[in-house]
Amino acid sequence: MKNLFGLIFLGYVNAYNLFSQMIYVQLEQIGEIQQFTFISKAKTHITVGNSYPDKIFEIQQNESVWIAFKDGEVLIKKGDQFIGLYPKVRLITDGEDPYFSILTNGKTYTYADNLIIKTNRSNLVLMNEVFIENYIAGVMAGEVGSKISPEFLKVQAVCSRTYVYRGLGKHRSEGFDMCDKVHCQAYKGVTIHQKKYQVACHETKNEIITSKDGKLIDAVFYANCGGATANSEDVWPNEVSYLRSVSDGAFCANSINTHWKKMIEKTEFLSSIGKYYSISASSYQFERDASGRIKYLLVNGKNEYKITGEQLRRMFGLKSARFSISSQGNYLYFIGKGFGHGVGMCQDGAYGRSEAGWRYDQIIKHYYKDVEIKPMEIQEFQKWKY
Ligand SMILES: [Zn+2]
Ligand SMILES: [Zn+2]
Repeated sequence: MKNLFGLIFLGYVNAYNLFSQMIYVQLEQIGEIQQFTFISKAKTHITVGNSYPDKIFEIQQNESVWIAFKDGEVLIKKGDQFIGLYPKVRLITDGEDPYFSILTNGKTYTYADNLIIKTNRSNLVLMNEVFIENYIAGVMAGEVGSKISPEFLKVQAVCSRTYVYRGLGKHRSEGFDMCDKVHCQAYKGVTIHQKKYQVACHETKNEIITSKDGKLIDAVFYANCGGATANSEDVWPNEVSYLRSVSDGAFCANSINTHWKKMIEKTEFLSSIGKYYSISASSYQFERDASGRIKYLLVNGKNEYKITGEQLRRMFGLKSARFSISSQGNYLYFIGKGFGHGVGMCQDGAYGRSEAGWRYDQIIKHYYKDVEIKPMEIQEFQKWKY
């Protein structure tokens, strides 16, 4: 545990967050729990209600308390010492490294800032009250993999922040802003590269991407475009002004995601595409979009039996809809390029550009057409509480 803290807690957060906004993230990935150990890296105030005057206990750095569900309330103990039983508590970290860990079922989850604990009928309900920049850092942890060049991280920070702003309100009726699952953006809390993510968030503070009509864009991305991105309407139903096909040259050509192959039995392929319209398939024909992806497959060559490239991708577990097929004996060989839907930003290409010296704003404007990047604060949050 100590080694982990040593790696993670590098003391970057507070200075950056002085004017930041907090959001409420319900922690659902941990699962249903009745008890856990809370370990704090910073001095932590245990409070009831919403403010400091209600402070009931203080935990010092690296100390822990045990928290459990009891008769519909939250029980807190420190060793054998009973601290209290309350309907709701809030643990507020204070200091240079405002981090804490939750230990439960043999696993450790680490987060920044504050923890709110409530109960439902039979379990504890945990919510991370977190500065938005720390939230974005925790989302980036699940999205950037090993790509940690500073400009690429800035690209990803601005995209994630734009996504967060767009998603606000999804859970408002339930009393929080975000869940920590893919539904809202998978949120990993504090991870090994926290400091690097925080720097990227700080250097793009409050920046979001808007389209030319001033609306937040849908900053979609995926692993690898295979050489060119797709027009939104060639993959999804709607034409979107900033989601245009652009060339990626060789910027994403040297990734493990660039080339793929798959073999499918001919009879299986024909019966699967026939099933889609409950007909008997004997032949197929492809239409491609401008970027080279399969736009449609026409079953038996007929326009009324269309299957989109994106549907084919899902149907057969293909990495992308950019592929060619050759027939050999009883098998079809799919030879493809790229990984993902192909609309918006190619992460491998964006990373390649960052390594080649492109600035984050140049990279964003390459993959999203005619957009603006500008700072915008979330005022709306102040209007409501959890
Ligand atoms: Zn959600
Ligand atoms: Zn690409």
